[in-house]
Amino acid sequence: MRVKLFAEHQTKKNALSLFLLTLLFCFLGSHLRIPAELSLFWPVNAIVAAVIVRHPYLHRIRYYLASFAAMVVNDTVFSGWAWPAVTLNIANLLFIIISVSMLVRHYLRDSSRTQLGNALRIFPACLLAAFACATWGGLAQDMSFDVRFATAWGDWFSEQFSTGLMLLPFLLARGWRSLSFAALLAPGKWLPVLSVLLSLVVGAMIGGAGSLTFPVPALIWCAIVLPIPVTSLVILLTGITEIVLVSHGVMNIQGNDNLLPLSHLTSARLGVATVAISPLIVAVSMDAVRQLNQRLALRANYDFLTQLLSRSGLYESLKEEPFSAQRSVGVILIDVDYFKAINDNFGHDAGDGVLEEIALRMQKVVGSQGRICRFGGEEFAIVLFDAHAAQLFQLAEAVRQAIGKEKFWLQGNTVTVTVSLGLAQGRAGEERDWHSVVNQLVSAADKNLYLSKRNGRNQTSPAFRTLTLAGEVA
Ligand code: GH3
Ligand code: MG
Ligand code: MG
Repeated sequence: MRVKLFAEHQTKKNALSLFLLTLLFCFLGSHLRIPAELSLFWPVNAIVAAVIVRHPYLHRIRYYLASFAAMVVNDTVFSGWAWPAVTLNIANLLFIIISVSMLVRHYLRDSSRTQLGNALRIFPACLLAAFACATWGGLAQDMSFDVRFATAWGDWFSEQFSTGLMLLPFLLARGWRSLSFAALLAPGKWLPVLSVLLSLVVGAMIGGAGSLTFPVPALIWCAIVLPIPVTSLVILLTGITEIVLVSHGVMNIQGNDNLLPLSHLTSARLGVATVAISPLIVAVSMDAVRQLNQRLALRANYDFLTQLLSRSGLYESLKEEPFSAQRSVGVILIDVDYFKAINDNFGHDAGDGVLEEIALRMQKVVGSQGRICRFGGEEFAIVLFDAHAAQLFQLAEAVRQAIGKEKFWLQGNTVTVTVSLGLAQGRAGEERDWHSVVNQLVSAADKNLYLSKRNGRNQTSPAFRTLTLAGEVA
């Protein structure tokens, strides 16, 4: 059973849920604190921000206050009540409000382009939110604890910026539900993750400031082959690992020529933040390219005017048909009679209208019995599996009558439009796929179509009694 923490119109429930969620992560965050630093990670702000972005109706002052109250309660319980519990947490609140305000409007618009936009927006959102948070936090710490402002600012900023930049893409990533975990077990999918691990080990062994960027190529590899949610998880775990390794001295990145009053941890966090954003952009762009490819494939598979399958769409759809040399397949090729005259007399648009109407009439007759395709120009093809010769002929005749019997309306005139049809049927024989079988049948049907034209049009060839349909294609 899924527990829903938030619902649009349940103010009390939402406030309580947000209060408890903030309290839980403040508690965890407090216990991750290491002595000399403000905290190794303070994930609360990014988590609360992500929750509000995902539930935009929480973007209200009362819910921010609920979250703020939880932070103050946590500090009061663990550090004893003091005024800094209020002043310092205003810094956290600033991060949440600013990052949410910059992200919330764009999150709900779901398309590949906005996904890319969202990922790119996370960077400035974290930058601005961390800037405001660090400025307030630095001042508050300077006044309350006599910590040098520049040092405090650097700590706040680097921590909030990097934690936000690592966590928000992961927490805001969509598409977890459509992930297939079995597909992730393929070597092509876990090899890049293994490379990230190896590059971290090599980075820890070699050390120096450059070691932080060692995982970048492997992360970009992840971004190219893995879905966005998984990539953002790998990026998050890599960032956390690097920060932990640096803080414990396993990864030694400290130089001797520190020009700025920044701790080595600050520099590490900034490095991690930079490392995090590049593969993320690649991941989202890859996803956009994939979606675009899908859309293009879809467009190529359907005819724009009639919405029928295009020729390539027909061949693509044949791949789904179970192949067996024993199964029979039939092709009906249809060509509109004297179509050029319709264009000449009524204009090209009227001609288009006739093609649309013909497509509709064919769909009505054929239904789910076969695949209809606009083969090109004013020529159509119907492909039918496992049908007897008689069925194929009857269907062809039904199509011919559906088009020829009822007149078409063309600019106030009623016009009779007829079609000529050619049939062919066979089995796979020597062939190994439907594509080549159907190709050969189309050639045979085309010859029969020519006979229909030559014999006076508006007819189906061969006529049923002379139809030899049992032969194999090859
Ligand atoms: P026949 O009975 O011998 O088939 O005569 P026909 O006039 O139908 O044959 P022909 O091949 O000479 O002409 C086909 C015409 O179809 C020529 C072309 O301009 C027109 N045509 C092809 N595609 C389209 C289309 O998408 N829209 C319109 N309006 N006309 C098209
Ligand atoms: Mg033609
Ligand atoms: Mg024609």
